[in-house]
Amino acid sequence: MLQSEATGLLLDGTRRVCGVHTAFGEEWRARAVVLATGTFLAATLHFGLQQIPGGRAGDAAASRLSECLRDELGLEMGRLKTGTPVRVLGKTIDFSAMTPQPPDAKGRQFSFGPRDADTPFFGQLALEQRPCYLTHSTEQTAEIVRANLKRSAMYSGVIKGVGARYCPSFEDKVVRFTEHPRHHIFVEPEGDCTDEYYLNGMSTSMPIDVQWQMVRSLPGCERAFISRYAYAIEYDFVFPSQIDTALSVRRYPSLFLAGQLNGTSGYEEAAGQGLVAGVNAARFAGNCGEPLRLRRDQAYLGVMIDDLVTKDIVEPYRLFTSRAEYRLELRQDNADRRLTRIGYEAGLAGREALDQVEKLEHDLEDARRLLATIRLDGHGVMELLARPDFHYAEHRELPVFPPRVLEQLCVEARYAGYIAQQREHAKTMLDLDAWKLPRDFNYDLPGISVEARQKLAKRQPESLGQAARIDGVTPAEIAILQVHAHRNNS
Ligand SMILES: Cc1cc2nc3c(=O)[nH]c(=O)nc-3n(C[C@H](O)[C@H](O)[C@H](O)COP(=O)(O)OP(=O)(O)OC[C@H]3O[C@@H](n4cnc5c(N)ncnc54)[C@H](O)[C@@H]3O)c2cc1C
Repeated sequence: MLQSEATGLLLDGTRRVCGVHTAFGEEWRARAVVLATGTFLAATLHFGLQQIPGGRAGDAAASRLSECLRDELGLEMGRLKTGTPVRVLGKTIDFSAMTPQPPDAKGRQFSFGPRDADTPFFGQLALEQRPCYLTHSTEQTAEIVRANLKRSAMYSGVIKGVGARYCPSFEDKVVRFTEHPRHHIFVEPEGDCTDEYYLNGMSTSMPIDVQWQMVRSLPGCERAFISRYAYAIEYDFVFPSQIDTALSVRRYPSLFLAGQLNGTSGYEEAAGQGLVAGVNAARFAGNCGEPLRLRRDQAYLGVMIDDLVTKDIVEPYRLFTSRAEYRLELRQDNADRRLTRIGYEAGLAGREALDQVEKLEHDLEDARRLLATIRLDGHGVMELLARPDFHYAEHRELPVFPPRVLEQLCVEARYAGYIAQQREHAKTMLDLDAWKLPRDFNYDLPGISVEARQKLAKRQPESLGQAARIDGVTPAEIAILQVHAHRNNS
């Protein structure tokens, strides 16, 4: 991690990225560099018509690095926009005027390690869960917005960057959804060590005097004190069509990009990419062989990275379950079964974790075999497990299994038919993913349109499947490419 602002990248005689320049005039040399600059590149904060350079409220923007990426490295850059709502102090909120939203009684985890078994959340940290509260905007809130629309950064034409369609600002909701007289506002505690609350649903780029009026028009917030103002932020990003599925820039293989810099938005999206970029940068620097690449049928992370390298980014990318064609298999309850071996081979998971998953697989295999020999009232047990009204534990005559084994058997029994159907639908795509395309392939082939040639040459897909997911590449062109691809049966 660099403590000072990185102002540029160092290139050696062969134009390989080999380090960074800092604002102090230092040169930090490295075999691989990971950039994860978030919303900081050439960023501007908007509070109504007032604009302030900044990467986040209270932090300076990073402008010189953005110029270096565009002008010295020749990367194609774009501009996006995001925003954040106001924070208000809890002691000034009247929660009795709001509807409590209690936390889940039982949390679920992605990790099944032995030390996590007795703790409800976040591995070993058993955090006390606090409720959120629901309030709503009023006709008065909408009126305040309408009366001040020309002073909003969004509606005065000051903002040029594109925001996420699915996270509209509050003024967007008032303008676009006129049929709704009110909108939900979730009042969420910011953390365990603060009294600040986040007004989820009230992102805005209105001037601060309007923000006070808006907040005080909400039931329960009539006397609320704003501790931090809402704002919109515009920033530069790198079009991710220039990176590959290892998250390295294709023209600069020692340079890895992650997070909001690649056009995504969101904590999970950034954390996932940070993991892949970090692992692959370390492998690259240590000359440790093939990078970690996750497939669409293995992890949401695989879905996101594949989307980033094949799809056009026209707004900040967020990862939804609906983006995954294998979503019945990409479940929270089987995260360790899907990914521990991959993590072990990449040096991320220990032998103990792998042994534990392998033991689970053996236990499951034994359980399936045993259950196949038992019939209950003329039915197979797996068939009964698929029924929602069948409660295994109530049948004392059946063998006892550890809870995790029984849970996995139930899920398998209930979803087997749907998963088989999903696999069948996705079979063509899976098959195409096994056909690898050579790097720097020449797409100037008869039968490939100019549009497809340009897009394929720019994105350099790693497989036929990836080529097929690029907008504008037709099935007929995929058939032509198949002649030149080679099948990887591993
Ligand atoms: C105001 C706001 C509210 C948000 N709210 C939510 C939310 O509620 N839920 C959600 O899922 N997501 C939210 N997001 C999005 C989420 O915060 C980001 O998508 C995510 O944090 C991006 O992670 P990142 O690692 O790419 O960058 P960041 O977390 O922004 O980290 C970038 C880091 O790089 C450093 N940096 C930048 N430039 C340089 C440089 N030149 N040299 C050295 N260091 C540099 C910065 O100091 C910073 O520490 C919000 C974003 C913003 C701006």
